[in-house]
Formats: sequence, structure tokens, C-alpha cells
Amino acid sequence: MSNCELEKALTMNQSVQVFKIWGIPVGYNTTWYLIFGLLTWSLATGYMPTAYPELSLVQYWTIALIASLFFFGSVIFHELAHAFFALRDGIKVNRITLFIFGGVAELDEEPKTPLSEFIIAVAGPISSAIAAGFFYAIYLIGQNYPLVAAPAQYLASINLLLAVFNLIPGFPLDGGRILRAAVWYFKGYNIATKAAATTGQIVAYGFIAFGVFRMFSGDFFNGLWLIFIGWFLNNAAAAHGQQANLNQVLGDVPVSRLMRPTWHTVDGNLPISKLVDDYVIKGDSRYYFVKNNGYGYEEDEHLHGMVTVTDISSLAQQAWKITPAKQIMTAWEKLITISPSVPLLDAVRQMDEKNINQLPVLDDGNLVGVLTRENVLHYIRMKADGNSSGLATA
Ligand SMILES: [Zn+2]
Repeated sequence: MSNCELEKALTMNQSVQVFKIWGIPVGYNTTWYLIFGLLTWSLATGYMPTAYPELSLVQYWTIALIASLFFFGSVIFHELAHAFFALRDGIKVNRITLFIFGGVAELDEEPKTPLSEFIIAVAGPISSAIAAGFFYAIYLIGQNYPLVAAPAQYLASINLLLAVFNLIPGFPLDGGRILRAAVWYFKGYNIATKAAATTGQIVAYGFIAFGVFRMFSGDFFNGLWLIFIGWFLNNAAAAHGQQANLNQVLGDVPVSRLMRPTWHTVDGNLPISKLVDDYVIKGDSRYYFVKNNGYGYEEDEHLHGMVTVTDISSLAQQAWKITPAKQIMTAWEKLITISPSVPLLDAVRQMDEKNINQLPVLDDGNLVGVLTRENVLHYIRMKADGNSSGLATA
């Protein structure tokens, strides 16, 4: 798997870096402990005693531990293959992480050509097939030594399974990326991305259905596991589809194109109750710039900060009459602002990260407009309507 959409989910949880290769931090997410423990346990108590009877308990656990470690080594090898070809095409690899469903190489950006996408994707399953051959050779050489043969045999088959599993043509699996590269080559990027998201979700539902079937035919845990994988793949495919749509719609549009060039200004001494009655209640705006920070009546046209509907609603209503706007405003120096030439997509990302609804737009330190979430949503809706009704949109 090599999936960019995981980045958010993974960085939110705790990740531990183990080593660095080609400048890429390689590590694991804490969810990985669970799968590592589960795999070692099932190898030591189920798989190995069946495949190699008459060994001791210590030998089973040793074999299981070796097999588990090398299995996750194989997953890293698979991800490194993706990373190697991504780097070769000038794409930065942010990190390689092991987590509960396997491994992920986080690419900083999407491949720029279908060929690049194809090579980066196919490198994973090929590397796993090579690893399978390698472990099979070890198995042949060490046949008479159970401590070597048992893990080697398991690793040969699991790597082969890894290669085949990843070739399933459902995004974000490698097979889905290969499919996307092919559709991209013949039909263009947008159709390819939609097709990838759709097939990804179909495959995900397939996993879930098969998991339910397995659960009811007595194989409860494997069934449950398949359902989890299906659920995970479905989320990833859907998220990628949405992201791709957003990228396509917002594309290279700069903030200046959507920002509102006008704004409301209120006096810093205006009580919040007045602000609500005279402005907010009439739906004028969700944010107000504050001038006249002083106590006197001296004319002061400088903007000192901004007060938003969110600021007001976090103030107890009894206090509205006695609290002036300047008291709850965000001071000018502390406002998160943006420049007019920045692409909309970056602006949206900033609003998401900082959890704010508007960005004052500053050009050379001067306020030139405000970009709000509503601006962006309106624009996305307009583009969507335009596309579905067949109108040409710029
Ligand atoms: Zn892969």
C-alpha cells in the first residue's frame, strides 16, 4: 500500500521513528504493537505447531518472533521499493510507517505522469515477489534446520501473498494505483481518479461482504479482520476521491479571486450586546474588525483586531452588556492571515488546521479582503452545479 491520505490519521497518533534511510524516517505507529503481538502469538501457537510438530515451546516462540520481525522487515522492504522510485522521480517521501494494517510510504505529492505512477506502484508487489523468492531459496538451503526452514517457508508464502493482495485493483492498494495509471494514460487524470475511488470502494465492500460471510461460516476472527480492512480501504478510497475533487475544483485559483474586498468595522468600545443587536442578528457578517482601541473618543482608524461570532458565543450572555468588543477580540498581531496570491487549497488547509472560519487577506501588511469558508463552499457548489448542468466554467 502506498497511500497519501493516511498521513493525517497517522500523524495524529503517536509514531516512533526507528531509523532513517535516504533521508526518509522509517518507524511504526503505536497501533502496530497490536498486530505484531497478534501475529507472533498466532504463529507460535497455531501455524508453526501445525506445520512443524514435535518442537519445543521455546522453539515455537523463537521461530514466531523471527518470522514476525522478518515479515515486518519485508513490509518495509516493499514500502522502500515504492519510496525508491518516488525519489527517482523527484517526489519527496515524508516517512515510512508500519501500522495496524501493514505499511505505508507517505509521498509528499502525487506522481506527475501515468508512467511515474505505474512504476512507483508496481515496484511494491515486484519487491514482495522478489522477497518471496529469496526466502524460498533460504528455505531450500536450510530445509534440515527447523529454526531456519520454518520462518523461511512462512516468509516465502506471506511475501507472495503480500504481492498478490496488493495487486487487487482497488485504490489505495497498489493494484488500484496501477489501474489508475492505465486509465490516466488512456482517458486523462480526472476520469482516472474517479475510477480509482469507485473501484476502491467496490473492492472495499467486497472485503466487508466476504468478511461477513466468513464470520457466519465459523471463521469469526478472520472474518472480522477482513471487515476491518474493508472499512479502512473504503475510508481511504472515499477520502482520496474527495481530495482529488477538491484539488481539481480549487486547482490554481488564488485567494484574491474569492476573497470579499469589503468588511465591517466596529468601535472597540461597542458593547457586545449592541454588536449583536445592530449587526450580528441581521446576518451582516460573522466577523468584525475592531478600531479605536483606546478609552477616549479620539479618532483612531487603525484596526486593532477582529471579533468573530465564535468569540461572542463563547462569552456568557449576561456579560454581553458590560463587555466591549475590544475585550474579546483577537489582537491584530495574533490574527492568522493570508496573502492574496496563495492558492485556495492552501488557504482551506490553513483554516482546517487552525480551526477558523475566515482569513484576513493582507497585501504588504494592508488589509485587502477576507476569505471565508462560505466563500470557498459557495465556489465549490457553483462549480459542481456548473459541471452537472454542462455549463462551461472557467
Ligand atoms: Zn504497496
